[in-house]
Amino acid sequence: MSLLVARGLVKGFGGVRALDGVDLEVAEGSISAVIGPNGSGKTTLLNVLSGAYRADAGSIMFAGADMAGRPPLQFARQGLARSFQNIRLFTRLSVLDNARVGAMGGHGPSLAAVLLRLAAHRTAEAMATRRARAALDQVGLGGLADAPAGSLPYAQQRLLELARAVAGRPRLLLLDEPAAGMNMTEAMALMDIVRRLRDGGITVLLVEHNMRLVMQVSDHLTVLDFGRRIAAGGPDEIRRDPAVIAAYLGPGHGEGGAPDA
Ligand code: ADP
Ligand code: MG
Repeated sequence: MSLLVARGLVKGFGGVRALDGVDLEVAEGSISAVIGPNGSGKTTLLNVLSGAYRADAGSIMFAGADMAGRPPLQFARQGLARSFQNIRLFTRLSVLDNARVGAMGGHGPSLAAVLLRLAAHRTAEAMATRRARAALDQVGLGGLADAPAGSLPYAQQRLLELARAVAGRPRLLLLDEPAAGMNMTEAMALMDIVRRLRDGGITVLLVEHNMRLVMQVSDHLTVLDFGRRIAAGGPDEIRRDPAVIAAYLGPGHGEGGAPDA
């Protein structure tokens, strides 16, 4: 069963068609991935799928609801959470407070509103704290709850980003290059965490340009190149697909790494 079905997504920026008629399906309970060279439209796709950008054309069905044109808050209420390609933590707040923001369904500019709501509702506060602690445990940061987020080493800050998204108990988790800047050991540990989250009932859609990493964890992959879907299927199928190999090795690319590099 598909939790998310997008058809014909188009998004332009001036002269650039960042998405040019993209289809995507995410099966419930899967780890799905969107891969492609830098600039191929992966982040734009996540922005459209989370309501951050409005698509110029196309449809999005998520958890049975027609979501096209709806604001991010409604995507969140429908059970969607995301992390960002660049770390966006409140560095002076504690690790726990950062996770609590996610547990309250808030992010970024709404921090003040979230904290006010927390103070106003004792029960909500207790629940947010419980969920935040559980999420920290799930990513292995349970012992660092009181540390300032900014004091964590880089890889742990990325895990905290993940915990914040998990703390909202999403049905679908969108992760934009969660392993960016990690070494291979850290990245593999992260993928183990992603697998466990999936086993715990969260469907995951992962954006990644490191093919080797994503092949090991994904049930299904969608490959973008210049805003178009050039392939979709299981890891073995994708690894052998001539269009995928060409996209990763062709002129103008090379930052993504060869499929079996
Ligand atoms: P990826 O995440 O695969 O590296 P992006 O989705 O970030 O690719 O970018 C796809 C294309 O859209 C690029 O050409 C990029 O410059 C352009 N683009 C993305 N976001 C914006 C924006 N907010 N304004 C203008 N151009 C953008
Ligand atoms: Mg990107």
